[in-house]
Amino acid sequence: MNFNDFKFHPQVRAGVTAAGYLTPTPIQLQAIPRVMQGGDVIGLAQTGTGKTAAFVLPMLHRLLAGKHSHVRSLIIAPTRELAEQINESIIELGKETGIHSLSIYGGVNAKPQVAKLRQGVDIVVACPGRLLDHLNQGNLDLSHLETLVLDEADHMFDMGFLPDIRRIIKYVPKKRQTLLFSATMPDSIKGLAQEVLQDPATIQVDTAAPARTVSHSLYPVEPHLKTAMLLELLQLTKTESVLVFTRTKYRAKRLGEKLAKSGYRAASLQGNLSQNKRQAALNGFRDGSFQILVATDIAARGIDVSLISHVINYDIPDTTNAYIHRIGRTGRAAKSGAAYTLVSGEDRIMIRAIERVLGSPLERRTVDGFDYSPAPPRKNTEFARPPRQPQPRRKPARQSQTKPVHTNPQGDQAKSSTRSGKTGKNNPGRSGLRHGRGATPPGVNLQTGRGGGQKRGGR
Ligand code: AMP
Repeated sequence: MNFNDFKFHPQVRAGVTAAGYLTPTPIQLQAIPRVMQGGDVIGLAQTGTGKTAAFVLPMLHRLLAGKHSHVRSLIIAPTRELAEQINESIIELGKETGIHSLSIYGGVNAKPQVAKLRQGVDIVVACPGRLLDHLNQGNLDLSHLETLVLDEADHMFDMGFLPDIRRIIKYVPKKRQTLLFSATMPDSIKGLAQEVLQDPATIQVDTAAPARTVSHSLYPVEPHLKTAMLLELLQLTKTESVLVFTRTKYRAKRLGEKLAKSGYRAASLQGNLSQNKRQAALNGFRDGSFQILVATDIAARGIDVSLISHVINYDIPDTTNAYIHRIGRTGRAAKSGAAYTLVSGEDRIMIRAIERVLGSPLERRTVDGFDYSPAPPRKNTEFARPPRQPQPRRKPARQSQTKPVHTNPQGDQAKSSTRSGKTGKNNPGRSGLRHGRGATPPGVNLQTGRGGGQKRGGR
């Protein structure tokens, strides 16, 4: 089956050609006909499977059949990055259709969003908090909505957005098409699906397992040697773009700076800085000006950069879901990728959990020639925070006056640290890497959980 068999409107077919898609992915094969007919769908699919086009293409096809005077499709996504990315897909795939879309999220001025809404848009891609603000202020009329998409529903639940989603649903007509996409189906999402979908078709593609095109390896190392190990791996491995994950915003920022100091074109995606800086880091990573992006889970959600050859977990994630999502950043749309995870004794429970999800043990690797012997420093200087500045004393707020505020819990922003010059140290030989189960370097005991440790911090 190819894209001609869907019998898309020629203007939609033109978008497929422009995007360079030749054959539909499995989720597209299953979802597109159902969505084109107007039916509800539960799509159990991880990112990287082509799920965005699976709902965007039939949505564009259906929109071309009606009048362009109202918001007729609403896509709700958990993060600004994902909302922005979906909107970019709509713009790319809908280039020839004349259909207008708008992304709406917090952390940026609301006025331009209001102005664009007044001009008229057919599709809104939104994060829940800012969308509710607009709805409450009467900036947006959803009474003509035809299709509602809830993307990455499990993440929306993780981020505490389900109450907002239920509030938003009160603004949309009961008679509508609803599509819900989620990588996993916890009970909370099953409950939501029962409330909001009618007679849905469930389509499942590689749920709860990373793309098969990704290889996984663990690099046991003491926590204080992680940066040295990361530099060694970057030195020994031939990579394209590399996405590095840390547990906290601060670690992402510091590691990004360290990599830049070591001569890599590296940026970090974290912090509470402006949306502009966040976008600059992402754009730089996308267009290759930054070869390495160091990010936290929340900041990196939804990142779609086709040339990510390696995802490196500098810190193992807290949940197996987070592992799957991190790894979903590489090996996208059938390209192959590699996932490296630096692990120490304290990570053994999470390693076992990930191995259970993957259904097989993860390969342990040691790096020949790497000096595993240095003892931990007495004090953690690497990620020690600078001393706090004294804060002016403030009067305590009067609680009864506080109004509920919609905050975006992912308020993670980019602070990029760059350095021009070196283009990454690519070395085609991987001669320094040794593979095999049980290859654990001195000082790291993955059985007993000893091996030093750094405190987990909040994102
Ligand atoms: P998604 O899972 O929607 O985040 O898509 C992952 C990546 O696959 C994006 O870069 C898409 O542009 C790309 N993609 C989607 N559908 C296809 C297709 N049929 N052929 C090739 N690439 C695709």
